[in-house]
Amino acid sequence: MSSSGDKGERELFVDGWEFMQTLGEGAYGEVKLAVHKETQECVAVKIMSVDENGEGLTHECLRKEICILRMLKDDHIVKFYGQRTCGCVHYLFLEYADGGELFDRIEPDHGMEPGMAQHFFLQLMSGVEYLHKRGVAHRDIKPENILLDGFDRLKVSDFGLSTVFRHQGKERKLCRRCGTPPYIAPEVYAGMDYHAEPADLWSCGIVLVALLAGELPWDVPSSECPEYKEWKEENYFFSPWNKISNEPLALLKKMLRHSPSKRCTVEKIRSNIWCRKTYPVLDQPSQDALTIVSPTHRPSKKIKIDSSPRYSDRTGSEATASQPVHHREGGEGVDGVVGVESFTQPSRFDELIVGTQIPCTPGASQTPFQHLTLRMTRFYTHQSSVRVWGRLQQALRKLGYEHRSSGDKVSLVVFTVDRRKQPLEFKASIYELRPDLLLIEFRRSKGDGIEFKKIFKKIKEQCLDLICKPPQIQ
Ligand code: ADP
Repeated sequence: MSSSGDKGERELFVDGWEFMQTLGEGAYGEVKLAVHKETQECVAVKIMSVDENGEGLTHECLRKEICILRMLKDDHIVKFYGQRTCGCVHYLFLEYADGGELFDRIEPDHGMEPGMAQHFFLQLMSGVEYLHKRGVAHRDIKPENILLDGFDRLKVSDFGLSTVFRHQGKERKLCRRCGTPPYIAPEVYAGMDYHAEPADLWSCGIVLVALLAGELPWDVPSSECPEYKEWKEENYFFSPWNKISNEPLALLKKMLRHSPSKRCTVEKIRSNIWCRKTYPVLDQPSQDALTIVSPTHRPSKKIKIDSSPRYSDRTGSEATASQPVHHREGGEGVDGVVGVESFTQPSRFDELIVGTQIPCTPGASQTPFQHLTLRMTRFYTHQSSVRVWGRLQQALRKLGYEHRSSGDKVSLVVFTVDRRKQPLEFKASIYELRPDLLLIEFRRSKGDGIEFKKIFKKIKEQCLDLICKPPQIQ
C-alpha cells in the first residue's frame, strides 16, 4: 500500500481528500485530520519521519508500531487503515477519534462523577483485556493516550511503546523500562524484568485515580517518594485517597499492590463490586466547547480542531515525571507477529492511499465552524484579536510564565514547569470564527495533561471579563 519517492506532504492531498488542521503533535511528527470533501469521512493521519542517524524514530520502532496496529481490531482500540511512505516520511492512517482525549474530561483536583469514571474505566478494561488476549502490552497507558469518539466510546491509542509479550501461547517477560513515570508500575520503574499484564493494569489503576480525584498519587512508584511510601504503609487519610469513596478505593488497593503477583487480574476487576455497580444513566458531560454539525456533516463526524501531543524520549535513560521514557534494549521485537486483519475502511479511503496527487490548500473549502468539537481547554470572546493578545500576554506575565510569541500575533508558546518541576509546554492560538467571535485554544505539547489544565484554569481566570458563552450552532 505504500508508494516511494520523495514526493512531499502536499502531494498527499489527493483528489477528494483534504488535509485539515493538526490534531496533535507526537514525539516524531504530527497527527493531522484528513476529510473527504464529498462524504465528510475523516481519518487521522500520523506523519512521522525516520531518522536512523540521530536520536529520532528508527525504522525498527516504526515497523513494530505498524505490525502491532495491524494485529488489532476492537471497538476500544483506534483502528489502523493502512500506511503510505514518501521518502523518509511515513503516513499512518488511523480511525479518527473525534471526542478528544480522556484527559480533557478530567477536572483538575476533582476528576469526574464516579458514574462517568466507571463508564470510561470499564471500556478501558475491555480495550486492555483485548490487547492482552492478543499478546500485546501497551506500556504507556495514560489519559493522554486514551481517545474518545463522538459517542464517548473509548479508544486506546499510541502504540509507539507497545510490544508482543505472548506468541503462540508462550509468554516472555519484558525488560525495557518505558512508560510515563507517574503511571508506570514499581517493578518497571525499578528496572526489573516484568510481566506485561500486571504492569499495564497498574497504569490503568493510576488512570482510575486520575478519573476519580483529578490528580496523580505520586511522581514515581518508589519508596523514595513519600506519597508512595505512605500508600505502601496503608495510610489513606490524605489526598487523593480521601477524595475517593470506599468501593473504588477498595478496588484501587487491589490494583495498586506493590507485588505484581498479588495484583488484581482483569477477571477480578470485572467482578469487583464497584465495577458491577449500576449508576443512573449518564448525560453527556457539559463541555465548554462547541459541537458543530455542518449541513453536510453527519453527527458522528464531528471534527476536533486539534489535540495534545506526546513527548517520547525513545533513547533517554532518565525517568522524568510526566513524560514517557523508553529505554532501548535489544530483544524486544515483534517476531512472529502475523494475523493481519482487514478493517472496515472509510468508503473513499483507497483514493487517499493510492490516488493521483492534486495539491490543494489545506482547509480551503471548509468553514471554521465545521471543524470544532469537544475540548475543555479553550474559551470564546467577542473582543478583538489585538485586545485578547494583549490580555493573554498580561496574564502570562502576571502568573510568571515564560513565553514566546509568533510574529503574526495569533499564537504563543508557553514554557514552564509543573508542580513536580517537570517541563510543561503549551501553545495558545487565536482563531477568528466570525468577525465578531474568536476562539482561544490551548494545546499541550509537552508534560502532564492534568497539570496543564490547572494552568489553563489560572489563565482563564485572568481573562474572565473577556469570555463569552460558547455559541450553539447547528
Ligand atoms: P506519539 O506517539 O508520537 O506521541 P500520538 O499517537 O500519541 O503520537 O498522537 C499525538 C496526539 O495526536 C495524540 O495525543 C492525540 O491528541 C492526537 N491523535 C493521535 N491519534 C489520533 C486519532 N486517531 N484521532 C484523533 N486524534 C489523534
